[in-house]
Amino acid sequence: MRFFRSPLIARLLFSAGQWKGDDNSAVYLTFDDGPTPEVTPWVLNFLKEEKIKATFFLIGKNVQQNPEIVTQLLADGHRIGNHTMNHECGTKSSLNAYIDSVNQADQFMETELFRPPYGKITMNQFRTLLSKGKKIVFWSWISYDFDKNISPQEIIQKAKKIRGGDILVFHDSLKGFTNMSKSLKTIVDEIRSKNMEFKTL
Ligand SMILES: [Zn+2]
Repeated sequence: MRFFRSPLIARLLFSAGQWKGDDNSAVYLTFDDGPTPEVTPWVLNFLKEEKIKATFFLIGKNVQQNPEIVTQLLADGHRIGNHTMNHECGTKSSLNAYIDSVNQADQFMETELFRPPYGKITMNQFRTLLSKGKKIVFWSWISYDFDKNISPQEIIQKAKKIRGGDILVFHDSLKGFTNMSKSLKTIVDEIRSKNMEFKTL
């Protein structure tokens, strides 16, 4: 069973995190796990054609290897967030190791935004990052584009329920590329047909 909507229990537990955008007539596109040389340029080109600004949660290691893509991303007016150094899972990491990973990634990007990989984070890690001034962003709708058992058509179908204020997650990773690139245009058109615009976080 896949939950395209973030579960209520998680939203209650981590209520100091951001689960929705401020503007109910806008939708917030986010892309996780880049920058990826084979994928992110495709996304940047798509967003430019569609005149959309989005938010990218970047893995520190990937920024270290592809700094020029991040330069382009910022030049295009998109926003970036920290997504740890090596995509660590919070619930499988010690507090110190996790915070170290976020700090390491911060050396390769300047941002107050942070999104925990897999949406998994312990209460201790969460509170520590908040106290360091991080704004912790989750999502309200996830595409599961990375999942090989799901088709672009299924994602497009589920996306019909997207509403104003939703924070959407796609992936500019190799795993997510096929589903993301084959569903994004239709989903964007559908959202626009409902008179909603796109904003960054
Ligand atoms: Zn991720």
